[in-house]
Amino acid sequence: MSAKDNIITLPDDQLRQKSKKVGALSDQVLKIIGDMKAATIDWENSREHELGVALAAVQIGDLESIIIIRNNFDDKDDKSFSVFINPEIISCDGDLEEDYEGCLSVTNIYGLVPRYPKVRLRAKDEHGQEVRIRAEGFLARVFQHEIDHVNGKMFVDHLRGNKTAFYKLTREGKLESVDYEKVRATGIFRD
Ligand code: ZN
Repeated sequence: MSAKDNIITLPDDQLRQKSKKVGALSDQVLKIIGDMKAATIDWENSREHELGVALAAVQIGDLESIIIIRNNFDDKDDKSFSVFINPEIISCDGDLEEDYEGCLSVTNIYGLVPRYPKVRLRAKDEHGQEVRIRAEGFLARVFQHEIDHVNGKMFVDHLRGNKTAFYKLTREGKLESVDYEKVRATGIFRD
């Protein structure tokens, strides 16, 4: 079994559960963080056109409030991540903007998801130090996607009933519109 096989995918119901707050940074928490990084990199190595941008602990079946986000979105060779424990959005700013999102837990389906262009948040880093962050643009989008995971929400939940929001990746790595009923038939919506 390789590390990416730890990643759970819809319709696995654990993905709709809320993660619990992390207390002390125990060895178990550090092990989860290591497992998350390994799973993300292993997943990425198995994909030709995609980057493993971020992951939440629930995606490897650990219902702990931990997310990891890649430090460099433009360089596939930089496989370093930042860790955010108990992340919380303090405020969102600006008008909602749509852009494409995928998820390691939603196999081969992409969506045009509305997100805020600016967020402020707080979390703890992997040394247990309190951090406050302002994020804009794509990073703000990634934080909103990952903090949704912590709260048991998937990107597809924002798009339920939206007939034109879904895409799939072609073999050449291009996004192509996909029929809503086909998406629904995969069972990724909570009924
Ligand atoms: Zn995701």
